[in-house]
Amino acid sequence: MKGTAPSFPDPLILRGVTTRAVRVPLKFALGTSAAIIKEVPFLLIDVLMEEGPVGHSYVFCYTTAGAKSIAAHIAEAAEMVKGRPGKPHSIFQMLMRRFALLGVAGPVRMALSALDVGIWDAAAVAVGRPLVELLGAVRRPIPAYDSRGLGLMGPEKLADEAEALATKGMKAMKLRLGYPTLAEDLGALRAVRRCVPRDVLVMVDYNQALTTAEAIRRGLALQQEGIAWLEEPIRHDDYWGNAEIARRLDVPLQIGENFNGPEAMAEAVTVRACDYVMPDVARIGGVTGWMQAAGIASAFGLEMSSHLVPELSVHLLAATPTAHWVEYVDWADAILDEPLEVVDGAVTPPDRPGLGITWSEEKLRRLETL
Ligand SMILES: [Mg+2]
Repeated sequence: MKGTAPSFPDPLILRGVTTRAVRVPLKFALGTSAAIIKEVPFLLIDVLMEEGPVGHSYVFCYTTAGAKSIAAHIAEAAEMVKGRPGKPHSIFQMLMRRFALLGVAGPVRMALSALDVGIWDAAAVAVGRPLVELLGAVRRPIPAYDSRGLGLMGPEKLADEAEALATKGMKAMKLRLGYPTLAEDLGALRAVRRCVPRDVLVMVDYNQALTTAEAIRRGLALQQEGIAWLEEPIRHDDYWGNAEIARRLDVPLQIGENFNGPEAMAEAVTVRACDYVMPDVARIGGVTGWMQAAGIASAFGLEMSSHLVPELSVHLLAATPTAHWVEYVDWADAILDEPLEVVDGAVTPPDRPGLGITWSEEKLRRLETL
């Protein structure tokens, strides 16, 4: 099979889906302008095929109730697709129709996305090649930025954490902002800048904390300090407000983790709401939705990065024409046999079948089940 492009396996009949939810403690607690996160609920998904292959996927669920509702939607969707050919585009279309009246957003969207990822993984496992190759691309390194820490914690603690993070040798890291005042935001940024090598880029993320006017005011000041991008300064779906900010600032405006499907991204980029995009696999529609979004980003000439779940995203970015940065976190190290490795500040899809992820039952036994 090596040397030739793998084709989609046939037949591959969906047999069932199992899920389990666990709580994963974080090494670096993450304070954003919205919440302080010390542990994260993960939902692990196994998609079983009649012929034997099993596809894996996992979702970062934000809350415990989120994990439970996503699991419930997956169980219902699994019943609808049981016995059908495991062809992700057709399955996704069908499920979008079936869930249309409930609304394909939030937990429903995340459930359908996770199921899609699991089906793609099973298909790649069935042909024995990495997922990136089934997508018609080659394994290649994608630059990764460190997003494990640098929450809202004040300049002294930030300096210590920036130094600790810098030991991993990554070429960029992300700082959360959204302190009560611009002076405090600047203090936080300068504290980090002082502690990391000059060539390390710093992205800043407001997690939707500001108004449009305040975002322009703070953005004008921050861009003097040298930041790589300004992320989600205002409500994510205020595309006109974002477009106004993008127009007024020189620093690139980054949004996208909350795009609900490629349709939302198309709407945002049509009004020039941002300079960069960073969809989340779980909200954009799994592998299927991601590849549609990658087409939009490519057509509009926009750099595309990922949001969390780097083990999944790295395959997709390697198949994305305008691939930019992988957002790197190590959260899934707590559930995986072979954690994603960062080499020279980049991550590469592993040379293993599918996504190349398997659950570590030993590690999972140590985690709280939800
Ligand atoms: Mg963000």
